[in-house]
Amino acid sequence: PNRDVNCENTEEMDYLIRTGGVVDNTPYPRNPAMNSEEARLLTFHGWPESAPVRPENLAQAGLYYTTTGDRVMCFCCGGSLQGWESGDDAWSEHERHYPNCFFILGHEVGNVPSVQSSI
Ligand SMILES: [Zn+2]
Repeated sequence: PNRDVNCENTEEMDYLIRTGGVVDNTPYPRNPAMNSEEARLLTFHGWPESAPVRPENLAQAGLYYTTTGDRVMCFCCGGSLQGWESGDDAWSEHERHYPNCFFILGHEVGNVPSVQSSI
């Protein structure tokens, strides 16, 4: 997919994190209400049937549906992705576009995996 071009804040945040301008006091996760995989999965109500990625994969990768097109957002870094193409993998694309995301990096950000995936 493509990065959301309107997401300038994230660009700036990426820059600050890379340069050490922001380290500890960054408000993560960006959207604590979506820190549960279960809650994220519920947002995919109305997710386009034609989309090549499944809600389960997206939710597992920390993403929830914004209810616009096929645009999803990360509960942790606040980065958004849209324009999913056949063969895209939710986690890989998240990692490719937002490599500084604390969730992607494996930091403790309060993620609550769904019961199924934690067994
Ligand atoms: Zn993220």
